[in-house]
Amino acid sequence: MPEADVVWRTAARLHAALGAQVLVVADLRWPTLAAADLTGRTVIEVLARGKHLLMRMDGDPALTLHSHLRMEGAWHLSATGQTCRTAGVAHEVRAVLANRQWTALGHRLGMLDLVRTAEEHTLVGHLGPDVLGPGWDPAGVAATMRLRAQREIGEVLLDQRVLAGVGTMYMAEALFVRGVSPWTPVGAVTDLERLLVVVRQLIEANLGRAVQASTGDLRAGHERWVHARSGRECRRCGSTVRVAMIGPASQQRPAFYCPGCQPGPTPTDDGRPQRPLGAVPRRRAPYR
Ligand SMILES: [Zn+2]
Repeated sequence: MPEADVVWRTAARLHAALGAQVLVVADLRWPTLAAADLTGRTVIEVLARGKHLLMRMDGDPALTLHSHLRMEGAWHLSATGQTCRTAGVAHEVRAVLANRQWTALGHRLGMLDLVRTAEEHTLVGHLGPDVLGPGWDPAGVAATMRLRAQREIGEVLLDQRVLAGVGTMYMAEALFVRGVSPWTPVGAVTDLERLLVVVRQLIEANLGRAVQASTGDLRAGHERWVHARSGRECRRCGSTVRVAMIGPASQQRPAFYCPGCQPGPTPTDDGRPQRPLGAVPRRRAPYR
């Protein structure tokens, strides 16, 4: 799923292509928006808020087109009048926005809404501080997290009301780097602020590149410590990387982890957390 860095890069690309330009095509293929007509409006700016994209347009009233990529969505850009080679099949296109120079295709979008800009808060007002936001305050976020002392740290990192922009990949990678099991209660995590600093550093490092790497190694297959590596050897200790679901029953998400490097509670087969058995690293390589 796209996380804050991907959404941030998407917003920057859309802003560069559509910002300060008049829309000459605006085709919203979304049941509730079929009658909306945005042609003739100027796109003022496109910005990311957590994992949400906000495209603000002038007019009376000023409007904001909100989109969310969910699992597989993407915005693709191509020169107006030319076929977009990356956008996938036509029936999965949910929005077409074009000015004279550039065309943006919203493909497999998970959400599409149109609201007055003054009412953006109805869509994103529930979000916590943005992990890439200018007023980044890890101490403040840590304080909010400590109010949820009994909940599991992996679940709280994914809670967009606490911190906006983190998904399963950066949750897993940051907890690995800090050696914390995703199922550790927030109240038992010794340095929450440091964990939050690591989360932001990992995301920030990928802002300027298309590769999402948290190991510092951009080679294919070397980019990540644990995320999407279940069943493979831990790069640090050689234990087998594992995956289990985390979060409340209706919103469970996969959490990848190394039982050797991240001691602490882990789920059992019946779903109850318990101390892992025999979670002793076979060998421990120096930390990079
Ligand atoms: Zn390990």
